[in-house]
Amino acid sequence: MSLRAVKGMKDILPDEISKWHRLERAFRECVEAHGFREARFPIVEPTALFVRSIGETTDIVEKEMYTFTDRGDKSLTLRPEATASAVRAYVQHSVQGREPVTKWYYVGPMYRRERPAKGRYRQFYQAGIEVFGDPGPYVDAEVIDLVVGFIASLGITEVEVLINSIGGPETRRKYTAALLAYLEPHRDELCPDCQRRMGANPLRVLDCKVPRCGEIAADAPSMLKHLTDDDRAHFDELQATLTTLGTPYRVDGSLVRGLDYYTRTLFEVLGKGEALGAQNALLGGGRYDEMVKSFGGPDTPAIGFAVGLDRLLMAMPEVEPEAHVDVFVIAAQPTVRAEAALLGRELRDTGLRVESDLRGGSLKSQLRRADKMNARIAMILGESEVAAGAVQVKDLLEKTQQTVFRKEAAKRVHEILD
Ligand code: AMP
Repeated sequence: MSLRAVKGMKDILPDEISKWHRLERAFRECVEAHGFREARFPIVEPTALFVRSIGETTDIVEKEMYTFTDRGDKSLTLRPEATASAVRAYVQHSVQGREPVTKWYYVGPMYRRERPAKGRYRQFYQAGIEVFGDPGPYVDAEVIDLVVGFIASLGITEVEVLINSIGGPETRRKYTAALLAYLEPHRDELCPDCQRRMGANPLRVLDCKVPRCGEIAADAPSMLKHLTDDDRAHFDELQATLTTLGTPYRVDGSLVRGLDYYTRTLFEVLGKGEALGAQNALLGGGRYDEMVKSFGGPDTPAIGFAVGLDRLLMAMPEVEPEAHVDVFVIAAQPTVRAEAALLGRELRDTGLRVESDLRGGSLKSQLRRADKMNARIAMILGESEVAAGAVQVKDLLEKTQQTVFRKEAAKRVHEILD
């Protein structure tokens, strides 16, 4: 039996990892520049956490969660997203008592049993932020501006920013009534899931992926026409702020998104380049003003987004892979291998990244390895160099070689690298 990774879950091997590191570094730098601090949550949570927040009638909860019973008969789920965990942690640790506004970010794997496709995996990676305690709308605009700037900084230029408002509970009540009145005559044409959803949560019909349901949804009454005055003012001010910031956006009244917890502001960024194929949603986010309260916390408005790192990587322009070592130390004779190991340590102590092949081998084959791993410098140590307290420093890029005193070797390498 050959053992393989679970379908839809992929290995990321070292040849690809520098792209991931670059992406994660860029994300951290961007959000930390805005005052966000990292939080880490468990990958496994009680199932009820996601059912209650994401919503019982959503595709994620109905069809996609990896749910299992542990040995203590508890129902647990691999997290399909991180906002529910962030809210749980915020309430569990009474964070609201410590600061009026809390700004967290996270990076990590999420799990959904979707049909695998290009850009759609069962284990995928998200980076996201959550802001607790600010009702907006200015922070909504700042969050959208932040993520649009982040994506542009990666060299991804072809994007479209969609925004919508689904209002608060009062708008939702009014709109749900109007939507039901519209859907009722079409009930028999809807898929069985949507017929059921009409009873539990008619808004979900707007998000159904079945083509006929989509056609019916396209002609549904506009949510934006049902906004209360407060919700409308919030949405208007968000747009005015985006305009002041110069952030391009388009209002899309049909944007609903597949999670129940949203209120008011919703947004999504789509990639337009060819690299993404059909899975072109780079990120999604929105406001969830009711969730902290519904988890037993104080009434606390909140907003956040999650960006799909796998998809960002696909959309990012290719760049030369970075070398993972600076110096490759070569023992020219078997007798100096211990001395070569010591030289490696001396160089590392100065902050250099150093590798060597302590199995030995011919000078030629070791030089070939140094070249292959893109090391800038090969440092050659033979019996005569050890006797003279010297090393040979070979610049593999400039193709020059010089003999230097061993105690000056690290300094010379730093000069070449600078
Ligand atoms: P969501 O949590 O559904 O709002 O998704 C936010 C972002 O995560 C999406 O825009 C995608 O970029 C990414 N994403 C969601 N599901 C998957 C998946 N199955 N595979 C890869 N990326 C995904």
